[in-house]
Amino acid sequence: LSDRLQETIKKIKGKGKVTEQDVKEMTREVRLALLEADVNFKVVKDFVKRVRERAIGQEVMESLTPGQQVIKVVKEELTELMGGDESKIAVAKRPPTVVMMVGLQGAGKTTTTGKLANLLRKNYNRKPLLAAADVYRPAAIQQLQTLGKQLDMPVHEEGTEENPVEIAKNAVAKAKEEHYDYVLVDTAGRLHIDGDLMGELQEIKEAVNPDEIFLVVDAMTGQDAVNVAESFDEQLDISGVLLTKLDGDTRGGAALSIKAVTGKPIKFAGMGEKLDQLETFHPERMASRILGMGDMLTLIEKAQTQVDEKQAKELESKMRNASFTFEDFLEQMEQVKNMGPLDEILNMIPGANKMKGLQNVSFDDKQIVHVEAIIQSMTKNERQDPSVMNASRKKRIAKGSGTSVSEVNRLLKQFEEMKKMMKQMSNTKGKKGKGMKFP
Ligand code: GDP
Ligand code: MG
Repeated sequence: LSDRLQETIKKIKGKGKVTEQDVKEMTREVRLALLEADVNFKVVKDFVKRVRERAIGQEVMESLTPGQQVIKVVKEELTELMGGDESKIAVAKRPPTVVMMVGLQGAGKTTTTGKLANLLRKNYNRKPLLAAADVYRPAAIQQLQTLGKQLDMPVHEEGTEENPVEIAKNAVAKAKEEHYDYVLVDTAGRLHIDGDLMGELQEIKEAVNPDEIFLVVDAMTGQDAVNVAESFDEQLDISGVLLTKLDGDTRGGAALSIKAVTGKPIKFAGMGEKLDQLETFHPERMASRILGMGDMLTLIEKAQTQVDEKQAKELESKMRNASFTFEDFLEQMEQVKNMGPLDEILNMIPGANKMKGLQNVSFDDKQIVHVEAIIQSMTKNERQDPSVMNASRKKRIAKGSGTSVSEVNRLLKQFEEMKKMMKQMSNTKGKKGKGMKFP
């Protein structure tokens, strides 16, 4: 989503008090971002209305952290929009369970048929039979056979001369006889929705009475995918959507509107061309991804594991009695570097944004490389006690680190300021009851 939305989210997140104006501003950005992401206009309108009602209502205003509460509301509504809880795949009372795969040409039907068979066997221990009912292109049958070989799974095919309706029927009969749990029928697609295609699919549907009709749509096609889903659903009453090529889709607009427009859930998501790259669709995770919060959540998790309690305590006492050295600084920097972009991390650490604002103390990823080089060029003694630093030592360090004396000087100054500030912060700790975990 847009950078502007991210900005607004950041802004509102830290807010102790959220005004109606804030909520309006936030929902306006969300609205723009969703429209930009190619989400259906009606969907956006309803969505924004719901978020506004909830966000301006009691729920948020009485919360201790209204800012975060607003984000939570947005995330929950997004999750709801995409289907709430994760959905499962049907199991017929009497096997085989018949699954019909439909969709436009190139959407990923054949590939996804293979992926789904793989997933059914791997995750549910099922025995699927694949059926090649796309008879218009010889290559389509071959493609399914190749997948079958890769998976070591049988493919029922009758060449290109037979009627796809008969092929589907025969496949189901064979599955019954030979005790397969699932029949996955790969059907033909067209470049555009047309009557002939729909007629054929309806006939197959009538002939084999499928337990699931999965529409395969290409996430990259955005709003088009939603229109496609709408017409297939009207004609065939699909039972679920498999969204492919989500690995290439950065906008997620299709995912957002499909459920809202058709009422049918997205069941699985294709995340690549390989046969194991089909995942259960998790609306909540997708909502996080859309909001860009997934990254933040991972960062928080990382921050929590990287800075363990004991280390944090040690550090705190060092800060208190001002014995924090360049050694510690370097160690901290290593940890921080492992976590990701510095600015984001600093924003998550209580009190650290104050630090960022401090004059002369800047945290910029590029600069950190220099800082590290400078510290690494110091002797052990110099790292422990920077007061020994004289002009010739500084010159040596600058040379050793490929920087300049003025950069060395700047770092020394920054370090002193940081130490001062740490002392201040750890002194106020008792009063406020909220310590800063300093990575
Ligand atoms: P069909 O015409 O609907 O049967 O589509 P195909 O199964 O032949 O797939 C069309 C193309 O999309 C192939 O090159 C697939 O490898 C590719 N494809 C399918 N699913 C995915 C996916 O989830 N991610 C990516 N990156 N490519 C996919
Ligand atoms: Mg195909």
